[in-house]
Amino acid sequence: MSTVSLRTIPIARPDLGEEEAAAARRAILSGWITQGPEVAAFEDAFAAYVGAEHACAVSNCTAALHLALHALGVGPGDEVITVSHSFIATTNAIRYCGAVPVFVDIDPRTYNMDPSLIEREITARTRAILPVHQMGLPCEILPILEVAARHQLPVVEDAACAIGSEIRVRQDWERVGKPHGLVACFSFHPRKILTTGDGGMLTTDDPELDRKFRTLRQHGMSISDATRHAATSVVFEEYPELGFNYRMTDIQAAVGRVQLQRLPALLSRRAELAERYTTKIEGIQGLIPPHVPAHVRTNYQSYAVQVTDSYPVGRDQLMQRLLECGISTRRGIMNAHQEEAHKEIPHGGLAHSQFARDRVILLPLFAGMTTEEVDRVVEALTP
Ligand SMILES: *Cc1c(COP(=O)(O)O)cnc(C)c1O
Repeated sequence: MSTVSLRTIPIARPDLGEEEAAAARRAILSGWITQGPEVAAFEDAFAAYVGAEHACAVSNCTAALHLALHALGVGPGDEVITVSHSFIATTNAIRYCGAVPVFVDIDPRTYNMDPSLIEREITARTRAILPVHQMGLPCEILPILEVAARHQLPVVEDAACAIGSEIRVRQDWERVGKPHGLVACFSFHPRKILTTGDGGMLTTDDPELDRKFRTLRQHGMSISDATRHAATSVVFEEYPELGFNYRMTDIQAAVGRVQLQRLPALLSRRAELAERYTTKIEGIQGLIPPHVPAHVRTNYQSYAVQVTDSYPVGRDQLMQRLLECGISTRRGIMNAHQEEAHKEIPHGGLAHSQFARDRVILLPLFAGMTTEEVDRVVEALTP
């Protein structure tokens, strides 16, 4: 009897190759390995790609979110309206400022912030709104901006997962990060589509904010390394305010530049695989594939399927069954308010957030995946 051993299908796999390795090597041998020319070039290319005036590279997206809120003056006792239904970093960044996250529930179809729930949460202490483009699916940013404008509140977009995703604004398609709010924050962790190992980026059209980000990421230093390096007379730096070390290295940025060039191909391959999933999953009783509204385009950073009561087994049993078939999955997005670290935060009803955490399964999806592998997953999902 022969046993067929099937390759395990991971939930995601970073798409890095010889080109990225060569870029890292070039940076290592260049003599300038942090926040230097590679970082500057990556920032320029990134700003051009998303359509922003400025892009500032940092060490990760959590740092980017913290920097954005800090630069906007969010501090102890302030409130920031956000979703609990997100990776924990969204809430952590608010807490780093000493501020209080105010959670609103999600739309059960898109898993994104429900804009109709924001206004009732605004108080005299509200300092910002922090929506998330969850799993790469753009949130309802235009209605969110309308509420924000009525109350003169800045909007910081958690775009950690949303590189390459698009929003239709009147007749035009615009990329997330243009930005539509005041600032957008991206992640380059290996679970995201474009990776630099770790890394993050802030985009804004506001030159004053961009300048603040650049100072704050570099210990609050009054002049940049590049300025000192190029100076023809001796200069001494000053530290007028408390800053952080949130730098990105040139090794990371060199990898990021290659990844950015390869991004269109990575995105179209993901879309192809996701569409194959959706067509087949639509035919399976009890499973609901991702809902993509007509006015957005998602990059499918995660492919989320809801397991309803009419499916023969529960979500957790399904995950176990897939694992036994060599298919790695994850539960739906977590909720910060259900974690020990944040259980003290008061909140209203978050029923849709809780439902989504417990009923959604994330399926494997990465550019290097084969159509046969998608079909293998679909077969394992078919009762
Ligand atoms: C991944 C992620 C982050 C954190 O990004 P890091 O680069 O790992 O700090 C923040 N928010 C969301 C929604 C994420 O998915």
